[in-house]
Amino acid sequence: MAEQIISLLKEILPDEDILLQERMEKHTSFRIGGPADVFVMPENTSQIRHVIEACRSCGMPWFVLGNGTNLLVSDQGFRGVVIQIGKKMSHSEADGERIIAGAGALLSGIALLARNNALTGMEFAGGIPGSLGGAAWMNAGAYGGEMKDILTEVTLLSEDGEEKTVPYKDLQPGYRTTLIQERGDLVIGAVLTLTKGDPEAIRQRMQELQQKRNEKQPLEYPSAGSTFKRPEGYFAGKLISDAGLRGYQVGGARVSDKHAGFVINTGGAAARDVMQLMQDVQEKVYSMFGVTLEREVRLLGDF
Ligand SMILES: Cc1cc2nc3c(=O)[nH]c(=O)nc-3n(C[C@H](O)[C@H](O)[C@H](O)COP(=O)(O)OP(=O)(O)OC[C@H]3O[C@@H](n4cnc5c(N)ncnc54)[C@H](O)[C@@H]3O)c2cc1C
Repeated sequence: MAEQIISLLKEILPDEDILLQERMEKHTSFRIGGPADVFVMPENTSQIRHVIEACRSCGMPWFVLGNGTNLLVSDQGFRGVVIQIGKKMSHSEADGERIIAGAGALLSGIALLARNNALTGMEFAGGIPGSLGGAAWMNAGAYGGEMKDILTEVTLLSEDGEEKTVPYKDLQPGYRTTLIQERGDLVIGAVLTLTKGDPEAIRQRMQELQQKRNEKQPLEYPSAGSTFKRPEGYFAGKLISDAGLRGYQVGGARVSDKHAGFVINTGGAAARDVMQLMQDVQEKVYSMFGVTLEREVRLLGDF
């Protein structure tokens, strides 16, 4: 099976864009994750379409990876093909008040491009470490802003290979959800619509938000950001802290002392440590406050 898919992939991609037994810890902000059987880095929609066709014909599962900043990959890795929509699809350009970018572009880079073109509206996202595709997929947000405020069009590739550009609002973006998740579409690119602003004010706002992140978040440790979604009417971090779980540790995984909403890898944490810790936190918070914490971090592989 592996030989069959590899020979098909070699017809689609140059050898250097096909990695075998690639350790996913190299591609996740948690710095955790065993090997993916195959890891590919396509540079255009046509290659992606053909990669998916190849996976289909071999009965091989596939997974779309952005920048790996909201992901926990199993210690056993992934028995399938990881398709990274990353650097090779990260072109971005400003056109008047719009920014047109590939799904692999990082939000941080797009925010700088916006600032350099005196475009305001993107400041909230400058410190989110994900790709545009990952952010569109889940309607990422911070400091009162969400992708739905600035994303106007998204180009999607369906699992059947159909490419279409749709208004983002048609994808029903909600709190960390969109229809893209249900449909299993891939995000290929997007258009952001911003407004003209004062470059100095934009720079200051971005700096202020980055400072807040540095003060509040344990950015000195690998993590995947907020572990749980915000339950309605509560803050996950406060519930976890009130449950006495600040600093709670399983193996190398720990509830951050700085921000209890973050699980950090203190060094050498296994995915099973993080998983156990998340379950312990969910159980304790539920038993003390009757609130269900829903995981925000996505899982890949067997747990
Ligand atoms: C320190 C830190 C701070 C963070 N702060 C925030 C924050 O303030 N707000 C916030 O919302 N998030 C935050 N995050 C989480 C994360 O950065 C976002 O969720 C981001 O949107 C994930 O993007 P990604 O490219 O890394 O996605 P990945 O982690 O690679 O993937 C996440 C999910 O998106 C899917 N996906 C990725 N790319 C595509 C694509 N092109 N097409 C289809 N599906 C795709 C994947 O299949 C997967 O299911 C933070 C993370 C860290 C580590």
